[in-house]
Amino acid sequence: MTSHSDVLVVGAGPAGVAAALTAHRLGLRVRVIDKATFPRDKCCGDGLTTGALRLLETLGLRPETVKSWTPCRDVTLRSPSGREVELRLPGDGQFAAIATRFDLDAALVDHARGSGVEISEGVTFAGIERHGDGYRVSTSGGNFDARVVVAADGMWSPVRKALQPDRSPYLGEWHALRQYATNVTGPASTRLYVWFEPELLPGYAWSFPLADGRANLGFGILRGASQKVGDMKALWKTVLTREHVRNALGDDAIIDDKVSAWPIPARVTSATLSIDDVLFVGDAACVTDVLTGEGIGQALLSGILAGEAAAQSEPGRAYRRAMRREFFADHRMSSVLGRVLGSEKLARGAIRVIGNGDWRRDKFVRWMFEDEPRAIALTPRRWHRGFLSARGAYADRPKSG
Ligand SMILES: Cc1cc2nc3c(=O)[nH]c(=O)nc-3n(C[C@H](O)[C@H](O)[C@H](O)COP(=O)(O)OP(=O)(O)OC[C@H]3O[C@@H](n4cnc5c(N)ncnc54)[C@H](O)[C@@H]3O)c2cc1C
Repeated sequence: MTSHSDVLVVGAGPAGVAAALTAHRLGLRVRVIDKATFPRDKCCGDGLTTGALRLLETLGLRPETVKSWTPCRDVTLRSPSGREVELRLPGDGQFAAIATRFDLDAALVDHARGSGVEISEGVTFAGIERHGDGYRVSTSGGNFDARVVVAADGMWSPVRKALQPDRSPYLGEWHALRQYATNVTGPASTRLYVWFEPELLPGYAWSFPLADGRANLGFGILRGASQKVGDMKALWKTVLTREHVRNALGDDAIIDDKVSAWPIPARVTSATLSIDDVLFVGDAACVTDVLTGEGIGQALLSGILAGEAAAQSEPGRAYRRAMRREFFADHRMSSVLGRVLGSEKLARGAIRVIGNGDWRRDKFVRWMFEDEPRAIALTPRRWHRGFLSARGAYADRPKSG
């Protein structure tokens, strides 16, 4: 049996759900397939930036539907020299939150389904071919015909592979590792830490607080930097034994045995964004921020742009135009800043400057959490009133922290 829709979305992570909800709101018939059954884990730091939070709010997701949702205001940055800078996000709404992908992605799927989007779980993409004025997608659950296909199928994008079988393998710009901890009793139980360890630069290690004494720990390194991806597990063990990390977690913290690692693609300006009316979004479009490796907000935004483009007469062209507008300047800015962080001396200097002065600290922490696009200062078309001073997301809810 063949199912028909205007838009078929392959992948029900944040990018796919955002595309589906947007296209559905514009009156299109949308079907989403995912090989997984939700809830499912996704290797991730689970950190939601201000940008991601604002988009989740726009999409109608309610934090209380996400079990592990933990708003966070207190941040510690540690420079390669060991200097620590404490930052505080405003309390007027949410500017940072942590939610396990196990919970967040399942809540997004439930929300989309509740809004009327048809979602088929446990259905694996197998192939794609031109059919009539659209596409026929074959899957483990039969064929799906659609005018527009949105490939939201993650870093390895089986849809991209099917359409570009000869393309050389791509391994992502970052490689990152994640491990959960329980029984965290030190300040990391409520405070978010970013440790710029000298041998990880321009990468960093993190501890993101979850409720009930849990924390998401991990680190990311740039592929091609001095550290080799193969050395990651050994290096991680040494980072975990460092005094400042132990002090943050507390003596009784228990680090889970399970370690997971995954690449992070961050080359949106040179990625394939569309092939005719197949639109690539999220990690499949390599939209992750090359400075930080964050990709949930970018996945949501690219998904929204794809959902909007699907309603236009030339979806591929409309989508590429929108992506250029929303992502390219920020990507270039992040690349430049990444080079600064790659030098230990410059990274130290940057953190010293941030630490000197309340105004700088207050604005920097908002900028760091993507309250505004990275390159907003260089793109006057995006200037607006209330620069770095608007309320956070979900500002009508009880105050956090
Ligand atoms: C260790 C690590 C830490 C990170 N930390 C953060 C962080 O703290 N904050 C942040 O913002 N970002 C972080 N990121 C990046 C973030 O995880 C990704 O950018 C984000 O998940 C991209 O979302 P997506 O919807 O594009 O893809 P995904 O979330 O990967 O979803 C892709 C979906 O496609 C489905 N799929 C794949 N193949 C098929 C197929 N053949 N058929 C059907 N379905 C298929 C999968 O099952 C999956 O559900 C981190 C990444 C890593 C690796």
